Amino acid sequence: MAGSSRSVDVVVIGAGQAGLSTAHHLARLGLGGRFVVLDGAPGPGGAWRNRWDSLTLGRAHGVHDLPGLSLADAVGATDADRPASAVVEAYFGAYERHFDLPVRRPVRVRSVRPRADGRLVVRTDDGDWVTRALVNATGTWDKPFWPAYPGRETFAGRQLHTADYRSSADLAGARVLVVGGGTSAVQLLIEVSEVATTTWVTRREPVWRSDFTPEIGRAAVALVEQRVARGLPPGSVVSVTGLALTPDVTAAMDRGLMTALPVFDRIVPDGVVWEGPPDPTRPVPPPSVAADVILWCTGFRPALDHLAPLQLRETGGGITMVGTRTARDPRVHLVGYGPSASTIGATRAGRVAAVAVRDRLVEPVASGT
Ligand code: FAD
Repeated sequence: MAGSSRSVDVVVIGAGQAGLSTAHHLARLGLGGRFVVLDGAPGPGGAWRNRWDSLTLGRAHGVHDLPGLSLADAVGATDADRPASAVVEAYFGAYERHFDLPVRRPVRVRSVRPRADGRLVVRTDDGDWVTRALVNATGTWDKPFWPAYPGRETFAGRQLHTADYRSSADLAGARVLVVGGGTSAVQLLIEVSEVATTTWVTRREPVWRSDFTPEIGRAAVALVEQRVARGLPPGSVVSVTGLALTPDVTAAMDRGLMTALPVFDRIVPDGVVWEGPPDPTRPVPPPSVAADVILWCTGFRPALDHLAPLQLRETGGGITMVGTRTARDPRVHLVGYGPSASTIGATRAGRVAAVAVRDRLVEPVASGT
């Protein structure tokens, strides 16, 4: 079919938690046969299929059940020590088969453009789709964020991002600088420190929390909700919730591992240097630290480049959202974006988007609306 154009009522992009939840609800609402799910990955599992082996099910924050078929029912009782990547891949694969979801892969969406007749053209590496509604569920994994620091291009060692990390084994014996203050940074720092010499730098002093409650979680989500309703980029949830003080972290603190230095001023070929006046609120860094590897645990951004032709962004850099719908284009929903960027949020947002899309499809097509 490459090069040809097919017509459908709804295109869902992405078959992670958000896309599968949306697909399930679209089917339940009677839209079976009228939608398609296009997924760029070679197999099921969404971003989970790429996560490092030591991120076991027990170490993950938790993978919320997809609607209609729980993880336990799909793949049986699971061992908390199994890599989440394998378990979720098996779960999502079983889910797709159980509900006979119309997932096509690997199909990468290159762009989505408006058409004069009010429909959208979804251009993929396997031909075009023309659709009345779009649910974008592309997550963040495909867009790792590499911050710009002076001298980064001069570094003679190896630089890798969380998205490239598979196991600590290939960093054994190295001097590793871990950059970033989120949950992934903490997990990788602890793991890498078992085989390598580590230095940790963060923009802000980490805030540790042993009393994480559902209220704190809800407050963090509400804050992100307010930001996207105002057209701002979603921002970091950890900056609101703090970092979990797990037994692994406490043990690492006891080993003197968890001192977070402020971010260096410059990267040099063999490491990093601090030149400015010390920040009195932070540990005082040495003048320089030698490094063979910089591990950038600096997060991800929503993978939305293919939506650029729709001009959804505000001047503030974000996309104004009304629930799961984009304010600028009522044909387009974003699930797993902003407040729904968690497995529980994505699951719920899939239902909200599917209902809104179904309601919209009963309206006649009007140009540009
Ligand atoms: P994804 O799982 O990323 O799925 C997106 C899918 O879209 C992928 O299959 C991708 O190939 C596809 N895609 C992307 N771009 C295109 C394109 N242009 N064309 C076609 N297909 C495309 N949340 C939790 O609730 N619990 C946790 O324990 C947890 N742990 C996490 C650990 C890490 C390291 C990270 C980075 C995040 C974690 N999260 C966790 C967040 C969580 O992963 C996500 O919120 C949720 O799983 C994302 O689901 P999603 O469907 O939005 O995206």
